[in-house]
Amino acid sequence: MCEIASWVLPGGQFHSLSYFINSISFTKVLSSKQRFLREPFINTSAANYNDAMQDIEFIRSGISRGRFRFVLFDFDGTLSLIREGWPQVMIPMMVDVLSQTGTDEDDKTLRLNVEEFVMRLNGRQTIYQMMHLADEVKKRGGQPLEPLAYKHRYHELLMERIRGRIDALAQRHATPEDWTVPGSHALLENLRGRGLTLYLASGTDLPYVRREAELLGVSRFFGEHIYGALDDYQNFSKKMVIERILKENQLAGEELLAFGDGFVEIEEVKRVGGVAIAVASDEVKRRGINAWKRDRLVRAGADLVIGDYRQQEELVRWLMGE
Ligand SMILES: [Mg+2]
Repeated sequence: MCEIASWVLPGGQFHSLSYFINSISFTKVLSSKQRFLREPFINTSAANYNDAMQDIEFIRSGISRGRFRFVLFDFDGTLSLIREGWPQVMIPMMVDVLSQTGTDEDDKTLRLNVEEFVMRLNGRQTIYQMMHLADEVKKRGGQPLEPLAYKHRYHELLMERIRGRIDALAQRHATPEDWTVPGSHALLENLRGRGLTLYLASGTDLPYVRREAELLGVSRFFGEHIYGALDDYQNFSKKMVIERILKENQLAGEELLAFGDGFVEIEEVKRVGGVAIAVASDEVKRRGINAWKRDRLVRAGADLVIGDYRQQEELVRWLMGE
């Protein structure tokens, strides 16, 4: 859809009519897979930015502000950069597994196929990506390993890439700021200082999330509210964490705010009527927006898009309706 019109709302944020129409129709009608696969439908134009917060893109109008009591954070790519580059480990590993089935598809075709489901499932526990891989092996007439075996193989390969980072943090050769999205600590401090309760939920295994959150100096903001993937994978999902937050605290959807760089958390928070901030972080440059992430997170239903938290003070003030 092309750009139809832009206008300014009270409070100074700019919106475009095409954003509004798209966000309504896509949320209601399309399945998550359909939404994930759509071509980008939104232009990133200057008209969609607020002058005072130039690095924040407003996608929807009428965002409920000033009522937030709880904030949910994803971990990898949203706060932590320790696992930067994980797709470059997972995708080639899976392409390799699929090419060994004797399929006549070339590597490029396999890569596109793998990339689609890996990134669509990003935000869920890793085991779901591995279960999907096992299905893809079966589809090609192969005999898959157990999903857990694929997960272990992936993790060993990933550790080769990130072990140096973890060791450097543990030995204090690197600082937490070196391996977090810029402005993370200030944002967490700001939100906690305003009396909001912070939750951390990750698709990475819980012991790793705890350890890496500790190394990055962010555990203290979440206390006991750190959740991650369990061996008994059916006992954890971001959806379950969100439902628990709402139920235990008798929360209305608009009292929940979430930050994430994965399709799943954005979709789940929007499902319950919360406000979802897409962190389309460029994990390599650590500045600006990763356009690929951004387009998919917008399709998942994100309300706002940011690349990092350098403007967290302005963002938080706006979210609080100040
Ligand atoms: Mg993430």
